[in-house]
Amino acid sequence: MIIKIIRNLLLHLYNSYKRKGFLNFLSEINFIIKNRISLLLHRKLNTLPVFYNIGISSVCNLHCKFCNQASYKQKGFTALEKIQKISNQIPKFSDITIVDLGESFLHKDIDMILQIFKKRQNRITLFTNGSFLPSNLEGILSSCNKLVISIDSVDEEKVKFLRRNSSLKQMKKVLIKISQVKREKKIRNCELVFNITISLYNYYEIKNILYFLKEVGFERAVFNLIEDWDFKGKEREKVFQKKDEIVAILQKSVQYCRENDLIISNFFDCNEANKLFKKKEHYSQCRWVEDCLVINWKGDLVPCCLRRDYRIFSLGNVYKSSLQTVLSSPKVEHFKKTKQQQFICKNCNWYF
Ligand code: SF4
Ligand code: SF4
Repeated sequence: MIIKIIRNLLLHLYNSYKRKGFLNFLSEINFIIKNRISLLLHRKLNTLPVFYNIGISSVCNLHCKFCNQASYKQKGFTALEKIQKISNQIPKFSDITIVDLGESFLHKDIDMILQIFKKRQNRITLFTNGSFLPSNLEGILSSCNKLVISIDSVDEEKVKFLRRNSSLKQMKKVLIKISQVKREKKIRNCELVFNITISLYNYYEIKNILYFLKEVGFERAVFNLIEDWDFKGKEREKVFQKKDEIVAILQKSVQYCRENDLIISNFFDCNEANKLFKKKEHYSQCRWVEDCLVINWKGDLVPCCLRRDYRIFSLGNVYKSSLQTVLSSPKVEHFKKTKQQQFICKNCNWYF
């Protein structure tokens, strides 16, 4: 276990040095040391967590097949003053991921939001659907540490089916422009990442998605298996039935990435490709709400990425009171202690 952690860390630092240059490499080391110390202190002294998923928009220009964003009646964008308020409460050197059921590039103040978090020396990951370009692309890339685009397919018909309102041709133009701006403006701090969710609709396309990644000039691929956001969902189970086939495809894909200087986040060599199918861990290993928080655009703290529906799962609102107040509330304390018995966690894909 310790050898694995050290290996991961060294590989991460090597990649950081190779891709981002010496100064960024030093700032990466500085961040990791301070972030890890904060995490350690948090676990020992019960201070505030250091991993945050923050939503800033619940409005989206797409209408994807597996997303229930459209069913939410309340839609909007988080006001800048609320972001300012929460950022002051989050410890410096925290990991911030800007993501929600909504498109972040649609927020008119996206630049300023990133600046707010950057001033606090947070590491910023920004998710977008990659269907259009924001007005200040250069500013956004300069502020982020990772720009992540979710890619489900590189087949035009399939894209239309899975991500209604979207077009592969348009997406390709957008992605090429992003990598071009990054290259021309010599923006080294920001890594360009594909987030690939493997489902029955796309597992046979994995290698084509990686060819596409290289073609548009992106650098890293992160693989996930599809999750069932619905308690009764069966999509994940269906993917498990194809395990051997998918692992074989992934093994070849890892090989391709190594030969083409692309990074796969989840594993280091072909033999680790079945890690995605590892047995579900015990509930007690779930660190959501303890180390890692999900706060949606309205300020509702929800249990985790799988249980995002604030109408059912809200554990309190950080904009109506404060982060510290919500985290020390009886509701949150009760949830943390009783996770194993909670209806919320039944059928959890990750820990059940
Ligand atoms: S782009 Fe994201 S938020 Fe928008 S519909 Fe698709 S999955 Fe939902
Ligand atoms: S649903 Fe799963 S990941 Fe979410 S809090 Fe419960 S056990 Fe953790």
